[in-house]
Amino acid sequence: MALDDSHEPNQLHFLVIPMGSPGHYIPTIDLAKLLAQHGVRVTIITTPVNALRFGSILDQAIRSGLPVSFLEFPFPYKEFGLPEGCESVDDLPNMGSVRPLMQAYGSLQKQVEQYIEKLNPRPNCMLSDAFLLWTGDVAKKFRIPRIIFDGMNCFTQMCNHVLYHSKVYESVSESESFVLPGLPDRIELTRSQLSFAFNSGSIDAKDLHERLYISESEAFGVVINSFEELEQEYADAYQEVKKDKAWCIGPLSLCHKDASEKVQRGNKSSINKHECLKWLDSQENGSVIYACLGSISRIEPAQLIELGLALESLKRPFIWVVRAGHKTEKIEKWIDEEGFKERTKDRALLIRGWAPQLLVLSHPAVGGFLTHCGWNSALEGISVGVPMVTWPQFQEQFYNEKLLVQVLKIGVSVGAKKVVHLGEEEKSGVVVTSEEFIKAIDTVMSDGKESEDRRKRAKELGKIANEAIGEGGSSYRNMTRLIQDIRDQSSTNN
Ligand code: UDP
Repeated sequence: MALDDSHEPNQLHFLVIPMGSPGHYIPTIDLAKLLAQHGVRVTIITTPVNALRFGSILDQAIRSGLPVSFLEFPFPYKEFGLPEGCESVDDLPNMGSVRPLMQAYGSLQKQVEQYIEKLNPRPNCMLSDAFLLWTGDVAKKFRIPRIIFDGMNCFTQMCNHVLYHSKVYESVSESESFVLPGLPDRIELTRSQLSFAFNSGSIDAKDLHERLYISESEAFGVVINSFEELEQEYADAYQEVKKDKAWCIGPLSLCHKDASEKVQRGNKSSINKHECLKWLDSQENGSVIYACLGSISRIEPAQLIELGLALESLKRPFIWVVRAGHKTEKIEKWIDEEGFKERTKDRALLIRGWAPQLLVLSHPAVGGFLTHCGWNSALEGISVGVPMVTWPQFQEQFYNEKLLVQVLKIGVSVGAKKVVHLGEEEKSGVVVTSEEFIKAIDTVMSDGKESEDRRKRAKELGKIANEAIGEGGSSYRNMTRLIQDIRDQSSTNN
């Protein structure tokens, strides 16, 4: 066995294994940074393109001596019929390629095992993505406690928990609304708004869901990108379900403080930092609506046009991140050739591709965020204290909408009725009209008392979020508890 002597005695060593999708990779890298800031030595298992795309944000931290490093393994594109360089869901030619992508990730198991075999001492903890089921087998083989990260909040965990155990959705039709039993708030959803586990479209996901459930119950615990004060009753309930082995340690995005870090988070930004800031600086505080729909949604051009028309007719400054997967060219053609760009040029900043979201959101000019309710985006909005316009698309995004609109009262819904499954966008057609967008955006951005109160609540939550992650805050303390739990577990194992 090789002796791993490159660290301080008694320093804990975490092996971190992210999954290839920006919404998973980005917060996992943040999490690795946060762990290292708390004195843990972290090794991130990565692959060539992911390392370039998502890893550069840590360059500066690594140079300054933070104990975090990358271990890069080759990725078997050819073997699994994936395009060269495709290591992430947002790079897939179509959603049918998700399975080969996951199989390619599975093939990393052998290399990871060979690496661990050579380590003495073994890592104290494996922190891996929930969807990388094979990492549970590796953890078991080497008797390393595994902590799961699935990027969801406690509210969603509890929705899934009560749905799984009550099976209440089984006795209702697709569009009939029903109450989720046993939650602190009266949460009503329809079957067609449920997350992938209970509503997987044309895919039969029952077996996958069962395996995910078993894998999670075998793990040491679950780490949550949220903060307790945001969803206290749900955090308490989930803590009870996990027998105190759930740790709310977010908002993770707040581990990046300065603009040069924020602009590097995720992909290479499609807009120059200075150009972006110059435009934002020229707008009045709280006047801009920022519209960005995450990293993997492939919204149909006809649907995006409805959004574009709404942004145009509102006569407010806006930033629109334009992306439509393989149909991006079509929407860009509409923007350029049908006069939209010309008509809105005095008050629009169009970002084609990847936006430096953290940089944009944290600018005082932004007064509202139109979001697809991916949890990272939603929490990033909460962290900077802006109210939101909610347009959920898929996965657990309808639950996040409920949390933002009904529980926290900092969001206004555009009124989407059901999940648009990834890969089935064309079939769904237009689900939200420009009038519906106008109404919701106007409600968030207007001056009335209701909007003012919403803004105040959002601001207050932003303040609490920043306190939670700061020294002595709830997330800071939970991170300390997590590290202590692993230290205790390591001494039990030895
Ligand atoms: N993101 C970004 N720029 C973009 C699109 C997305 O920085 O143009 C980041 C965003 O800040 C968030 C992540 O990508 O951290 C997307 O995760 P989320 O859970 O919001 O949605 P998903 O992409 O998984 O649907």
